[in-house]
Parts: sequence; C-alpha cells; structure tokens
Amino acid sequence: MMPRACVFCGNDAVPMTKEHIFANWIAGLYGHMPTGISQIVDTNGVVRVWGTRVFQDRIGIVCENCNGGWMSQLEGRVSQILGPIIKSGWTSSLSPVSQSDIAFWAVKTAFVMDHMYREERLIPDSEYRAFYDARQPLPSHMVWIAERSNPADNLASSLKEQVLEIQVPSNNQDLAARISDDIAAGARIYRVTFSVGHLAVQVFGHTLPTTFDVTEGPGNHEFTRRIWPASSQTIIWPPPRPIEDIGGLRGLHEMFGETSLPRIPRPIQQSNRKARRAARRTSNHLDTNQ
Ligand SMILES: [Zn+2]
Repeated sequence: MMPRACVFCGNDAVPMTKEHIFANWIAGLYGHMPTGISQIVDTNGVVRVWGTRVFQDRIGIVCENCNGGWMSQLEGRVSQILGPIIKSGWTSSLSPVSQSDIAFWAVKTAFVMDHMYREERLIPDSEYRAFYDARQPLPSHMVWIAERSNPADNLASSLKEQVLEIQVPSNNQDLAARISDDIAAGARIYRVTFSVGHLAVQVFGHTLPTTFDVTEGPGNHEFTRRIWPASSQTIIWPPPRPIEDIGGLRGLHEMFGETSLPRIPRPIQQSNRKARRAARRTSNHLDTNQ
C-alpha cells in the first residue's frame, strides 16, 4: 500500500511517484537490461533478493515534487563522479563538495531502502523530515565509503540494523549513562551498509539528543574514508584495501566495534520477541564531540 504522504516532505496534496532504489543512471552503467543479482539482508539476518531485474525495484513513497526536484538534481550531481567508481572502481579524488554530495546521496539511498520491507523499518519517520528540511545529511549522521574489489554478478547488497550495544571510553561513564537512558526512552541508533558495484557505503545515524562521534579504530583507515561530516580536504577513493579483506559487506558493517572498552548494558525494552530477535548485537566505540 502506498503511503498517503511523501516520506520526505510530508506533502499529501500531490501524487506519489515510484522511486527507484537505484536511479536509472546506475542501471545504465550496466547496459540496457543488466543481469546479476541485488539482495537485501533484513534486520533478522534473512537474505532476500530484490525483484527479478536488478536495479528495477521501485517503491511509491515520494511525491512527484521531491522525485522530480531535489532527488533528481542530486542524482544528476553525483552520477558523473560515482559512475566510474561504481562501474569500474576508478581511482577518484573527491573534493569536500563531492564528499558532501555523495554523503547526501548515500543517506537518501539508505532512507529509501529502509522502506523496502516496511514491517522492519529501522529509521524513524522524523529523520526523513529533518533530512528533507536540511537537504543534506544531519549533524548526527556519519558516512563512510569503501571499495568492493570484485562485485562479480552481485551488483547491489544491503544490510540494516538497529544498534543496541555501544562502547564508550572507560573514562566517560557519564556519557554511557546518558546514552543508555536515551535509548530506554525511545531514541534509536541505526546503521545501513550497502554496496553497488565497486562502491560500499555505511550510513550511521541516531536520534539521541547527545552529540557524539564514532572513533575509528587504528586499522579502519586501511578500509574506509569518512565523507560525512565532510573533511576539509580532498580525499582519494579507494582506500588502500578492499572490504573483501575484512569479510566483505558484513565485515564493513561491523568494523566499528573492535575495542575492549566497557559496554553500556544492553537496554531491555523491546516489547516483543520478534524485535528482540531482530536486535542483533553490535557495538560502536563512541566519543563525545563537544
Ligand atoms: Zn515530497
């Protein structure tokens, strides 16, 4: 069933249109009728193959103003730089502006993907509206890009997960207590990791009132480049090593948890068994950003 109002702008007075998960310019990289598979791993860890024709999945969640307006302009801005990265893995230098545009596209794509299986929605509706109002990733978002060296026929994959267990520096238990309270009160921490062709992306976001930063482990820079918040300098993609060296997309999804710091107790506030099952153990190492 199509929602009555646009998930981004909330408009219910103009017709809804069907939005491609991946825009036509991406399918066009692979020819008129690309062959291959695209898959999504849901919050229960179940792998589902998208549609029968790769890149042709569409969902009716956005209005024609958004689809033909800012979303179309965004796709136009990123297609020139992302095309050669996705299709051929070309080494590319990304200016701060390009980093911001790609991060904008990455968050938009993650948000649209989250509606693929609506019963397992991960990202709160309020995030869509805030993102639309800002027309850029939110200050609470963090976006990394990485390289998949050998996509073979797996042209697109996605993993999404609610983060329920995080790590904080042992000297900052006050932060731990605040985050734990926020989560118990309904705040959400989420991450979506996806790949398309040679490009792999992780979007991390949260609705916590607390500001924090995810500290990257010493080895992370081998595999990832952070593009949001954008750096002030041009960066080079790809990083030195591909995600195949850390277990592929799943490895990238889980790579920000390799510390031995004390963990915030996992909040027990899921109301049903399915949600508990869905809440996979994950961890992140957090620092205050203030
Ligand atoms: Zn709209």
